[in-house]
Amino acid sequence: MSEHPSTERWIDLRSDTVTQPSAAMRAAMAAAPVGDDVYGDDPTVNRLQDFAAELFGFEAGMFAPSGTQTNLIALMTHCGRGDEYLVGQEAHTYKYEGGGAAVLGSIQPQPIANQPDGSIALNDIAAYIKPDDMHFARTRLLALENTIGGRVLPQDYVLAATGLAHDKGLATHLDGARVCNAAVKNGLSLRAQVAGFDTVSVCLSKGLGAPVGSVLLGPKAFIEQGKRWRKMLGGGMRQAGVIAAAAQYALEHNVERLAEDHQNAADLSSGLAQIEQLRVTTPQTNIFYVEIPAAAVAALREHLANQGIRASIGTQTRLVTHLDISRDDVQKTVAAFKDFFKDWRA
Ligand SMILES: *Cc1c(COP(=O)(O)O)cnc(C)c1O
Repeated sequence: MSEHPSTERWIDLRSDTVTQPSAAMRAAMAAAPVGDDVYGDDPTVNRLQDFAAELFGFEAGMFAPSGTQTNLIALMTHCGRGDEYLVGQEAHTYKYEGGGAAVLGSIQPQPIANQPDGSIALNDIAAYIKPDDMHFARTRLLALENTIGGRVLPQDYVLAATGLAHDKGLATHLDGARVCNAAVKNGLSLRAQVAGFDTVSVCLSKGLGAPVGSVLLGPKAFIEQGKRWRKMLGGGMRQAGVIAAAAQYALEHNVERLAEDHQNAADLSSGLAQIEQLRVTTPQTNIFYVEIPAAAVAALREHLANQGIRASIGTQTRLVTHLDISRDDVQKTVAAFKDFFKDWRA
């Protein structure tokens, strides 16, 4: 059986969500015992939830179809109608989840500017917490994201911000879609990496390479309450062990190897930085950005596609490495960019 039975082989740098389940992951899926998870009967889902909770140091876990849903469930469980949460302007939960907290949760977001390192300034957090006064929404929660745009929040900042929130009576939630990348970069255990947070959402479908799914981790009573929202939001799945098996495989096999993705991103970034027409950021993890001259965008996109390379080419291009990008792919990509720009002048 081939690794990738049904797809053409692209060098796909658009996102770390594009990975194909490996043969070993598919074998784990095929062999998984399953049951109806809405009844709590699926042994593979239960195993994943317990395994993830233990790994990250929480009482309980809940498997759900997407990170958008685990974040929304967390927000709706922490906050009620007329409550608000503090969140970064650039945060996924605020900017890229369709306004779900407001639309479906009647929760007011209080967006706050992100600093260049991705953090929200401690002074801003303190200043945006509303006093107990009938004019104001009730500030209930601080939500951070790590990594954010590929940046790892300084760990002393994370501890200070979550400490401040707790001192002010707020709960703390981490959108940890890529928190395993942060842990690997910091050389921290997953438990140490998520210290300070009451709840954490982790994507299995990003760099970890599972086809689908996220877990929400937190106290047992919180997760039990959250299951009601998950059902309401359409996330009650039945024989979900088939996909939970892939998520379990991902957590067991694909965390430490994220270091390879970080190295590949560093190599790709330094290769592209040699091209004088480009402005390239230095990655901390598996994501970085390239500024491309507007006049080159359309032709470059076509040139790369002809070489079997897919990327979200624009004036600000995000490039993402993952477990289906090899060292060889990195070299091919650098060569393709160099080939395009060697004679190109604006
Ligand atoms: C991908 C992502 C999510 C959740 O995305 P889904 O596609 O809904 O699983 C949440 N937060 C961040 C930072 C993400 O990158």
